[in-house]
Amino acid sequence: MSHTVLIENGLIVTMDDKKPIIGEGYVLVEDNLIKEVGEGNLRADADETIDASGHIVIPGIITAHTHLYGILLRGANLRIRPPTDFAQVLQRVWWPVDEALTVDDAYASALSASAAMLQAGSTFFADTYSGPNSIEGSLSAIARAVREIGIRGMIAFEVTERHDSEEARRGLEETERAATELKKYATVSLMVSVHASFTVSDELIEQAVSIASELKVPLTIHVSEGLVDLYHNLERYGERTVERLDRLGALGPHTVLAHCVHVNDTELDIIAERNASVVHNPMSNMLNGVGVAPVPEMIERGITVGLGNDGWIFDPFENMRTALTVHRLNRRNPSAMDEKTVLNMATIWGAVCYGLSDLGSITEGKLADLTLIDAESLPTPVDEESVIGHLIHSIGGADVSDVFVGGRRVIRAGQLATTEPGRVTRISRERARHLWHRLQVSGDESGV
Ligand SMILES: [Zn+2]
Repeated sequence: MSHTVLIENGLIVTMDDKKPIIGEGYVLVEDNLIKEVGEGNLRADADETIDASGHIVIPGIITAHTHLYGILLRGANLRIRPPTDFAQVLQRVWWPVDEALTVDDAYASALSASAAMLQAGSTFFADTYSGPNSIEGSLSAIARAVREIGIRGMIAFEVTERHDSEEARRGLEETERAATELKKYATVSLMVSVHASFTVSDELIEQAVSIASELKVPLTIHVSEGLVDLYHNLERYGERTVERLDRLGALGPHTVLAHCVHVNDTELDIIAERNASVVHNPMSNMLNGVGVAPVPEMIERGITVGLGNDGWIFDPFENMRTALTVHRLNRRNPSAMDEKTVLNMATIWGAVCYGLSDLGSITEGKLADLTLIDAESLPTPVDEESVIGHLIHSIGGADVSDVFVGGRRVIRAGQLATTEPGRVTRISRERARHLWHRLQVSGDESGV
């Protein structure tokens, strides 16, 4: 017996070009799929009917790049010498954190970060976990948390040769091991993740490319987030970062490049030619002071650009607002980026980055991943003309009322419906407390 849910009287932003905005309409969900989308009322019975009057219905937001474990540093006061450069951010903050992480930390952060994203309207994320001392079993722990929360996640272990090639071998082994396990789950999938070209050899990149192709999963890598990546490749190989990745066969339609802040026109042309995608992380880029990615130039070339949070602010609406404003400021041109483009990045383009043809828009036959937003208290009219503007200028994650993932109502009236929210907070705080303690007592000269 199939189960049907009818969401009616909503203002629907489909992100499907055929029928982009429906002033007052319905979405009929059958089991895990969108069965029908239309205007007015559907004259049929459903097992469950939801009145979406005063609500905006959008496709579940795609967070195209994140690090779930980043949530464990929220508010932490690390006793470190203040970094004045991106490489120092890695050396003084993230690499010591990576090394201190345990598999239990991976699980706890996956619980709280997944819950935070889901509550703020994001139904899918692409995560890469980095923990050289917690490799084996990390992906199983993250997958368990993703399933408990009810979000959809593509997960990966980020391989690097920062210490030695042994840690990369173990990271790839964990990836291959998880490939079999994750096949059992409808909401958790896998990708191959390489940290960044300045921490890996040519051989490792080639190996990662071949494993991704064997497993038929996407490959992701951080690209020229800071200048350190670019200078490393120029000095050692005489090539810019994208040129080196291209020589190694790493660029293709299943490759997702995170950041691409320090890329020039030649590199953008190569990315476009290879049909690789880019994920823009504007808030993280500002936090780390690395620069502004040339996103308008990417879009002009037809490169698919998704939107990510890079493990910092998990509310996708904040990231959307920043994606709108940072390029206007950077170009000193208030037309340098528009609202619809930002919304594309956060939904349909993010899905395209990872080849997810069944996500990213409210289209018949796609998976029923839907976000309902309470727009009752907005100070100005909400209609077909104004809704895109409202989504970028007025709405925040706290306005999200209900979220469906694969037809399952996982957020109900703003509350997590899948697990007890108090439990998520308790586990997350407990692990963060231990992690902070380990980071502060194991201090060396740098204080971390
Ligand atoms: Zn990242």
